[in-house]
Amino acid sequence: MGLFKSKKTVFVDSDILVIGGGMAGCGATYESRYWGRDLKIVCVEKANIERSGAVAQGLYAINCYMGMRWDENQPEDHVRYARNDLMGLVREDLGYDIARHVDATVHLFEEWGLPIMKDPETGRYLREGKWQIMIHGESYKPIVAEAARKSATDIYNRIMVTHLLMDKTRPNRVAGAVGFNVRTGDFYVFRGKAVIVAAGGASHIFKPRSTGEGMGRTWYAPWSSASAYALPIQVGAKMTQMENRIVLTRFKDGYGPVGAYFLHLKTYTENVNGEEYESTWYEDTKELVGDYVDRHPVPTCLRNHAILKEVAAGRGPIRMVTKEAFKDPHMETVGWENFLGMTIGQAVVWASQNIDPKHTNPELTTSEPYVMGSHATCSGAWASGPEDYAPDEYQWGYNRMMTVDGLFGAGDTIGGTAHKFSSGSFAEGRLAGKAAVKYVNDLGNDQPEISESEYENLMQVIYQPLENYKVGRNEIVGGTVSPSYLLPLHGLQRLEKIMDEYVGGISANYMTNDWGLNRGIELLQMLKEDLVHLGAEDLHQLQRAWELNHRVLASESVTHHTLFREETRWPGYYYRGDHMKLDDKDWHCFTLSRYHAESGKWEMEKAPVYHIID
Ligand SMILES: Cc1cc2nc3c(=O)[nH]c(=O)nc-3n(C[C@H](O)[C@H](O)[C@H](O)COP(=O)(O)OP(=O)(O)OC[C@H]3O[C@@H](n4cnc5c(N)ncnc54)[C@H](O)[C@@H]3O)c2cc1C
Repeated sequence: MGLFKSKKTVFVDSDILVIGGGMAGCGATYESRYWGRDLKIVCVEKANIERSGAVAQGLYAINCYMGMRWDENQPEDHVRYARNDLMGLVREDLGYDIARHVDATVHLFEEWGLPIMKDPETGRYLREGKWQIMIHGESYKPIVAEAARKSATDIYNRIMVTHLLMDKTRPNRVAGAVGFNVRTGDFYVFRGKAVIVAAGGASHIFKPRSTGEGMGRTWYAPWSSASAYALPIQVGAKMTQMENRIVLTRFKDGYGPVGAYFLHLKTYTENVNGEEYESTWYEDTKELVGDYVDRHPVPTCLRNHAILKEVAAGRGPIRMVTKEAFKDPHMETVGWENFLGMTIGQAVVWASQNIDPKHTNPELTTSEPYVMGSHATCSGAWASGPEDYAPDEYQWGYNRMMTVDGLFGAGDTIGGTAHKFSSGSFAEGRLAGKAAVKYVNDLGNDQPEISESEYENLMQVIYQPLENYKVGRNEIVGGTVSPSYLLPLHGLQRLEKIMDEYVGGISANYMTNDWGLNRGIELLQMLKEDLVHLGAEDLHQLQRAWELNHRVLASESVTHHTLFREETRWPGYYYRGDHMKLDDKDWHCFTLSRYHAESGKWEMEKAPVYHIID
């Protein structure tokens, strides 16, 4: 088998294997060392942890900080806030656990050199909003990465993890992972007594608004490729709330964030006629969701809903009124700096389109849907909760352990816990790291073992796209369309079209129904069958091929969950046209799925939502 015969196989042993060196992965690596002084802690990352993940280009605010030392907020307040925003459905035990620990994490960031803005009058951190504090955050990720680097036994950058490995004798116990080096092509076999998946969220599963030459510009990081979901799904871990995709209202074409504009600059939105429009849709929204429309703050999805309705009524676009705030030179500076430290592309788009927010109120738009567990949304793995706080039904082992033995998760990976953001993801990584150390220490002599035949078979599968390309490329003399292989980009576009048209993307105005979802599942199945014919001309394309595999599996999960929940819980994120109303009687619950890799079947069930906090 040609191309990959010359590659080395590298074996790496670890006690704790952290997959993904973003915010949660760095937190897990750091904390694992704190509790496991003598353990071998390995972090493996497909990019370079120095600038990887959703925080790669920096942030302008830390969105989850209680301020308990100044009595600004208590963890209970944050749980109430997240529960309200998610229309009642969050894992309160997990959310509380993050909220009670997140401040200590932010204090560490400051100790490590992250400049946090201060209120000159009070000396406290400068608040952007009730939960957000402002930072000079261009170097946020390198600062956090340094802490992980100093804690890890080894960091392996540039390794794309494709599959988890299971224990030779116990089918539901994890034993490691495999992947390949995206620069050298070497095959990596990692043994791990405990594995922490922290591989980020998922963009590019729905067709983005930016297509063609602009398709790399999405709101969530384009390199967030759903591994956080696909890796656990492949081995049968239960997932939760995968239907809870998120749609963001952002500045048009650059996806520039609006948080600082609303909260700090106090700008507001209006329709094309310069009118307030949210109140126009109050009765309509109340009809769909009942009293949830009266909650404060108004849930994010419902604000999107008002925008979508107003635009559909012909009074779009919705624009952000910046002209007033930008008269103040300080506010003008903040408005631009907000992008320069986080989404520089938005500043470039405005410059290229002759938009100066001092003179023009810029357009907003709603994004394509994304899947993640750390923002105003909570898709991800179903995890065991903290021993001192979780109800019995949410506890089956160690904190943040999934339903697979020894498999932990944090950040975007873990479901049911919205609004953790960068700081909460790092804090959750720490919680997972601490629990994983305990798990490893408790193992004693009962160590997991990997199976040689399992990783050798996977090696064949992983490099097959290089072989497919090599064999098939001479069948065509030019162009990129081949009768015998599918390029990763073509597969991605096919996936995005299916999700867009059948599962509630932008071109369907976020609408779907039973028939569409079932058709989507059929088409995804056909796409899955074709993935064995992916062709990769080089290692870069091989990485794309595996990112696509992960995106397809996560998309299948999203589609099954959306089909299972027969209501519209989050209008503005998506609509079930055949069940347009929120239905608390039957659906005030979590949705859980389990994938059976051998049969390709999905098993769905409901789980109760426990309200622990009043
Ligand atoms: C545009 C934008 C704006 C945001 N604004 C804010 C804000 O203002 N304030 C705030 O607090 N938060 C903000 N966030 C949220 C914050 O970035 C996330 O909550 C946080 O990064 C999630 O942490 P994570 O570790 O789960 O994922 P990430 O930080 O994305 O890390 C995932 C890591 O896994 C790696 N990886 C993925 N797949 C594989 C694989 N197969 N093998 C090996 N490695 C892999 C990735 O390369 C990455 O390093 C924003 C996010 C975005 C995208």
